[in-house]
Amino acid sequence: MKIASIETIPYEIPYTHPLAFASGSVSTADHVLVRVTTTDGVVGSADAPPRPYTYGETQSSIMETIGSLFSPALVGTSIFDREKIHAVMRRTIHNQVAKGALDIAIWDAIGKTVGQPVHRLLGGYTDSMRVSHMLGFRPAAELVDDAHRMGEDYGITTFKIKVGRRPLSLDIETIRALRGALGDEVELYLDANRGWTANEAAEVLRNTTDCDLTMLEEPCDAKEAMSRRRLVDRSPIPVVADESAPTAGDASRELLNGGCSAICIKTARSGFTEATEILGLCTGLGVDVTMGNQIDTQIGSLATVAFGAAHEATSRRAGELSNFLDMSDDLILDPIAIRDGRISVRETAGVGADIDEEKLAAYRSDR
Ligand SMILES: [Mg+2]
Repeated sequence: MKIASIETIPYEIPYTHPLAFASGSVSTADHVLVRVTTTDGVVGSADAPPRPYTYGETQSSIMETIGSLFSPALVGTSIFDREKIHAVMRRTIHNQVAKGALDIAIWDAIGKTVGQPVHRLLGGYTDSMRVSHMLGFRPAAELVDDAHRMGEDYGITTFKIKVGRRPLSLDIETIRALRGALGDEVELYLDANRGWTANEAAEVLRNTTDCDLTMLEEPCDAKEAMSRRRLVDRSPIPVVADESAPTAGDASRELLNGGCSAICIKTARSGFTEATEILGLCTGLGVDVTMGNQIDTQIGSLATVAFGAAHEATSRRAGELSNFLDMSDDLILDPIAIRDGRISVRETAGVGADIDEEKLAAYRSDR
């Protein structure tokens, strides 16, 4: 069960329509499939979604970091020696998505080697996660239609509204339109992706007090420390750190500085190992966690479900698990089903996302 080889395969799958938000937009999934093969012939897989405008990583930087820095140092190491593996990865700063995918691929190989689903190895708390759907920058009427369709087709009742635009009235009107059209039964929360200042975010909260919003994510740049702390102190709802807290160290800094009162965990940038550290920090301090989405494929979404369902705290809130619905295709062999607003964990050994080799051959961009 030693690591025999690590492969990084670039591929590109278009979205059916571009996804737009305050920090960027995405029209193609130009990701990297990371594969770890062991000396026993077990193959562990994970998806790496680059987000250059958020973390600076690109498809080629992920391949280079894994291929030239991590792989030469890790080949020959047992997949069970995770602390040794992380000691190697810690020598390189940043590159969270490269590290996260490699960590998940190794967990997938561990699950397959011991014949257990990874959600059990991580905690085994429950067997599914409730799904939250993201509503991006589009006219309010289209978002209302999208939310209705998600409710009718998949039973989804929790929606994240992407905000962070100027003038603020654009977002305030969208929030009001959605609450008015969807009624009181659905959960609505906001993600501004640093698009506002802290004071602008406070103004939006003041103007939407009757809209029953449950969370406000990344309202402004976390570097706006003093105003953001004031916002967090006065906000009636949890202020969630997402891209300002990709590591356990960042999460502890933001929580202790008063820059947030909840943390978004994304397995795409934390892997399962650092996500576990972040979760322990949050439960220890008594703050809420949410499972976020890095515009994940079905492979990445299943990893989020495996981690989120494994723990009590991460399964309390709906996870952001439906972005893959906007992809024109996926590399997964057995597609995800959303039923009654939930996605189930896989009971097969590993994370459960087996790869369709024909599709991989068709979409890989290195041949
Ligand atoms: Mg976010």
